[in-house]
Amino acid sequence: AKTGIYHSLRPPAPLPQPSAPISITDYVFSHLASHPPPATAAALLDADTSRRVAYPELIRRVRSLASSLRSRLGLSRGDCALIISPNSLDIPVLYLSLLSIGVAVSPCNPTSTAPEILHLIHLSRPSIAFATSKTAGKVPSPRLGTVLIDSPEFESLTRVVAPTGDPDQMGVSQSDTAAILYSSGTTTGKVKAVALTHRNLTSLVAGSYAVTAARASPAVALCTVPYFHVYGFTYCVRSLALGETLVCTGRFRVEEMRRAIERFGVSHLAVAPPVVVAMAKGGSATEGHDFGSLEVVLSGGAALPAAVVARFKDRFPHVRLAQGYGLTESTGRAFGTVGPKEYAVVGAVGKLVPNCEAKIVDPDTAAFLPPCKVGELWLRGSSTMKGYVGDQQATRAIFDAEGWLRSGDLCYIDGQGFLFFVDRIKEIIKYKGYQVAPAELENLLQSHPDIVEAAVAPYPDEEAGQIPMAFIVRRLGSTVDELSIKAFVAKMVAPYKKIRRVMFINSLPKNAAGKVLRRELTKLASLQGASK
Ligand code: AMP
Repeated sequence: AKTGIYHSLRPPAPLPQPSAPISITDYVFSHLASHPPPATAAALLDADTSRRVAYPELIRRVRSLASSLRSRLGLSRGDCALIISPNSLDIPVLYLSLLSIGVAVSPCNPTSTAPEILHLIHLSRPSIAFATSKTAGKVPSPRLGTVLIDSPEFESLTRVVAPTGDPDQMGVSQSDTAAILYSSGTTTGKVKAVALTHRNLTSLVAGSYAVTAARASPAVALCTVPYFHVYGFTYCVRSLALGETLVCTGRFRVEEMRRAIERFGVSHLAVAPPVVVAMAKGGSATEGHDFGSLEVVLSGGAALPAAVVARFKDRFPHVRLAQGYGLTESTGRAFGTVGPKEYAVVGAVGKLVPNCEAKIVDPDTAAFLPPCKVGELWLRGSSTMKGYVGDQQATRAIFDAEGWLRSGDLCYIDGQGFLFFVDRIKEIIKYKGYQVAPAELENLLQSHPDIVEAAVAPYPDEEAGQIPMAFIVRRLGSTVDELSIKAFVAKMVAPYKKIRRVMFINSLPKNAAGKVLRRELTKLASLQGASK
């Protein structure tokens, strides 16, 4: 990196001409047409019912649903569809259908509360919602029409005998928004709607085509990461693009995951770090099981401690532990491990993906830093997002004038091009790989009558990586306690955002400008934790 810019060392991944009108669905389907998976291979497999969908049927279903969405539900290019559902076999079908007609897919966390969902609707302005019978009650009806994914009606939408509409005539351009995913971004910690284009997704899939070695039989992949998160979203699109068998389940307990692995001979497992921690530790759910079919376990979304990597390799010497690093804003994976040699580099999260550039800069001056020096990671390429929907200010803040995306992460890149994650500069907490924005919880806490001031910061946790911890200055004479503070927040937010630790203090540490010093808080809490 003489110029300070790192380029991908992977084989080149050719992309279609930017002006070619091709949706990500058609890009994937045309590849499947020229590289057909074996006729017996399932595209989708439901772990709960053992239902299978073979590749020709997947394509038929996607085309039928697309035709129904246009003719029966009136959806068209430029619309947005909110999806509120746990993982299931129908979700990838719905994604590919919506994408094929140029409707932006906007999946959200199904455990979100009704007010949280209302906020997302204000951001992305969907014209329709797809929910399950369990989640539909949270859609603000009748303002937003809702289709139940787990209903016979949905099934009938996928069974049109002769789908109308020529895929070539949809006019979807690669710069169209394909997905709107929710992230807190790097600045104020408020939820933002990240617009990813068809080209962003195409670039990611093209990168996978370039680096994935041919196999004798298709990989059997299980992704326990939710498909609404960029990691799960891109994993399921990529997996189908490669002709793999994607095992789908909405249940995420380690015990159920183990059963699905054994039953379906899963070879590729995609998880967040807590699952690797659980597998490395052993315990009742995994004890006595060798996961013989597993070839690769991919961990991403948050840091994986080197000690866990070592322990995992000890327990499962036949399994290659791969890592991926990325952001919602970079369409997921920007760095990742590929091939046996890279798996051996403990602590690294792999090398730069094709069609992507990186640099490490001094976070204060933006000056280039040489290899092995720690600084902020910046990314640029065909998979960096279009921007935040309806928030030009935040979009301008995350990109520099040359189109570099500031990751908000402190990292270094070594002489071989491996990325090492060091710490986060931005103010998000990663609970089991999920983003929790401190500012959002602080606003809720401030509304409590007994609280004068509150701050929220990450606290280290072996299982979850980090947990949200509240630092509270109580009103004089108030006796409000830890439990009631936790309960106060819990009833307003999705479970992953709950406050899991509380410390009462006399005042919050602040800098001269009055900004709360969250790092000081975390230090204070660990001192207290150590003395306990
Ligand atoms: P999200 O948009 O939810 O994917 O969050 C992106 C952030 O997650 C990154 O900016 C990192 O702070 C963190 N992250 C993602 N992958 C990794 C990884 N492999 N190691 C450490 N942190 C990660």
